[in-house]
Amino acid sequence: MPQFQPVRGTHDLIGEAWRRHDHVVATARAVAKLYGFEPWATPLFEETAIFARTLGETSDVVTKEMYTFADRGGDSVTLRPEGTAGICRALVSNGLTQTLPQKVFYSGPMFRYERPQKGRQRQFHQIGLELIGPSEPLADAEVIACGWQILTALGIGAECILELNTLGDKASRDAWRTALITYFSARSGELSEESRNRLQRNPLRILDSKDAADRAAVAEAPMIAGFLTPEAAAFYDGVRENLTRFGVPFRENPRIVRGLDYYSHTAFEFVTTALGSQGTVLAGGRYDGLVEEMGGPSTPAVGWAAGIERLSMLLAEPPVSVGPVAVVPMGEAAEAACISILQSLRQAGISAEMAYRGNFRRRLDRANKTGAPFAVIIGEAELAAGVAQVKNLASGEQSAVAFAELPTHLS
Ligand code: ATP
Ligand code: MG
Repeated sequence: MPQFQPVRGTHDLIGEAWRRHDHVVATARAVAKLYGFEPWATPLFEETAIFARTLGETSDVVTKEMYTFADRGGDSVTLRPEGTAGICRALVSNGLTQTLPQKVFYSGPMFRYERPQKGRQRQFHQIGLELIGPSEPLADAEVIACGWQILTALGIGAECILELNTLGDKASRDAWRTALITYFSARSGELSEESRNRLQRNPLRILDSKDAADRAAVAEAPMIAGFLTPEAAAFYDGVRENLTRFGVPFRENPRIVRGLDYYSHTAFEFVTTALGSQGTVLAGGRYDGLVEEMGGPSTPAVGWAAGIERLSMLLAEPPVSVGPVAVVPMGEAAEAACISILQSLRQAGISAEMAYRGNFRRRLDRANKTGAPFAVIIGEAELAAGVAQVKNLASGEQSAVAFAELPTHLS
């Protein structure tokens, strides 16, 4: 028989891994709600064009990483590599472009064909926010503030530093782009082959290169600051002012560009040194052109996505798991009676289970293993009296509780 393994770069979420994952998602969703964001769920796969057009023809994701295949009807579909394009598609398909702002929270699996390593999988998971509609820098600051509060609520706010940059408006970027082409052309001999290929089409992306060969040239490249139009500079001032009002500390980093083509103005990342080279935990920016690319009206938007696996690894204490209350019969007659007690507990909203077999000792062992807070023990004497022994498995303390009182006593 073959010994099946998960596909390379994919992982099972079981036990503590699942609890960490779930804790990240539940915390993020709760904090996002405090800011007025509502969850959306969009399909795991979309028409390939949704990603191919919007992420940029030269992006890593489109050139190397997409899981694209023809379905049985011959249509080209792609497993979503990120969440934003699908959310914008959904905004347009559902006729919501006139009902703005839309404040969206999402979470779920994403798929990229990458070289698997620590903090980098082929199926990974993201949480994310999209704030669609407002063009004010207040919106940028608010989505960042929400991200920061999520990291803080997870207990990792202090380890993550917000790095902030602006990519300016189109006029700023066009001027900067021209300067970058001139600069990198003069040093093209030093660049990696990939960066040389990007030189004419998308020189901004060279700045985001992870190739060591490109570092020296990138370090001395011209920065956006010298090319900002007065409007773009004022927008950036607004973002910084509002971040300060929200109480979010940040550090400016003129080297931050986003990997995808649809960004303008604000670009930001929360980074940590605790994860080795995979140090970006949350990344985002403003993407005013994307909804229009998707066939909707021109609609400003800003958002971010964070990798759940990287956040999970940073959590100090794995969230504790409290197991179900263990109902433990002694003898066959008691087992029959225990089933109705078990059911009354569950119907009262108390998590409870009973082992399917085994003597008293084994059943108590199982209760200890599953992290049961209490064992409800019922033997013949208890059955006759209608009173159970309730044992606190942490302290060992035991007390007698009438059957009818059990749900109240245990809740
Ligand atoms: P990187 O530079 O690490 O490749 P990216 O720019 O491709 O990141 P984004 O598309 O901005 O990443 O995705 C946002 C976040 O999603 C990242 O900061 C990271 O936490 C997470 N992420 C991205 N790709 C992966 C992956 N293959 N495995 C695990 N997490 C990932
Ligand atoms: Mg990547």
